[in-house]
Amino acid sequence: MSNILCRQCQNPIKFDDKHISQRTGKKIPLDIETNERHDCPVRREQQQQAQQQLPSQSQQSQQMQRRHLQCNKCCGNEIYFDVNTKTQSGKFIPLDKDTGLPHQCQ
Ligand SMILES: [Zn+2]
Ligand SMILES: [Zn+2]
Repeated sequence: MSNILCRQCQNPIKFDDKHISQRTGKKIPLDIETNERHDCPVRREQQQQAQQQLPSQSQQSQQMQRRHLQCNKCCGNEIYFDVNTKTQSGKFIPLDKDTGLPHQCQ
């Protein structure tokens, strides 16, 4: 039987008929040395990273960017605030939704 390499970590793995995933019906990759289910370190890392991308922080910042307001001074155009665009005194500057430039009331 020729060596099969794990596509993720390049370690040699094997398959046999006794180890079949009940969920997918596919043969489960096994470690050659231990005969145990291959616990792929690379794959595990990828899954951890995928989970870390989920948490609320990134969702929150996306919502921040998407939150548009209407200029309530005069024109009613849509504006937004960007955390990177502040006056020297630390106040948010209203930006035009379309241009991304500081909003100037008409
Ligand atoms: Zn692997
Ligand atoms: Zn305005």
